[in-house]
Amino acid sequence: MASENTPDTLLGAITYFADLDVATVFVASLRWPDGVRCPHCDSVDTPYVKSRRIWQCKNCRKQFSVKVGSIFEDSPIPLSKWLPAMWLLVNCKNGVSSYEIARDLGVTQKTAWFMLHRLRLAIQAKSFDKMKGDIELDETFIGGKARNMHQGKRKRLGITQGRSMAGKVAVFGLLERHHEKGS
Ligand SMILES: [Zn+2]
Repeated sequence: MASENTPDTLLGAITYFADLDVATVFVASLRWPDGVRCPHCDSVDTPYVKSRRIWQCKNCRKQFSVKVGSIFEDSPIPLSKWLPAMWLLVNCKNGVSSYEIARDLGVTQKTAWFMLHRLRLAIQAKSFDKMKGDIELDETFIGGKARNMHQGKRKRLGITQGRSMAGKVAVFGLLERHHEKGS
């Protein structure tokens, strides 16, 4: 792989997404490719509170995490489990069972089944959002170069971090669909 940080093994994905800042930025850049929008009121005036990994909407004054309004909501499962599970799902060409996910990620089989169910729905709906479709999922494993648009987006997210993730973001082959967003 061209990018040193791009996880191309399960172990790599687990290590990569163990950093909650990395996982948060990753999901945020996929959910909001054109900049963070408040899931409550659609405002873009949403400064990031890095210490708590939440956004504070200045319009409706509600706070939200990257999970709010997504398939990851309503569960205590951390992104450090969700993202490697997604990695398994899109990279195992012969399919992946809840038993495998349970074993590999150290969750119960019931939890693994729940995760698989939601992730498959997201693939069907082509979106991490509960309702509308922003993201197309493709089975292609995408490296960094085509994705360096995220560099500017990350700045708009107000997120800085120690190691550079520029161009290394879309490791699951998640393709953004750039559709019109009414403002
Ligand atoms: Zn709001």
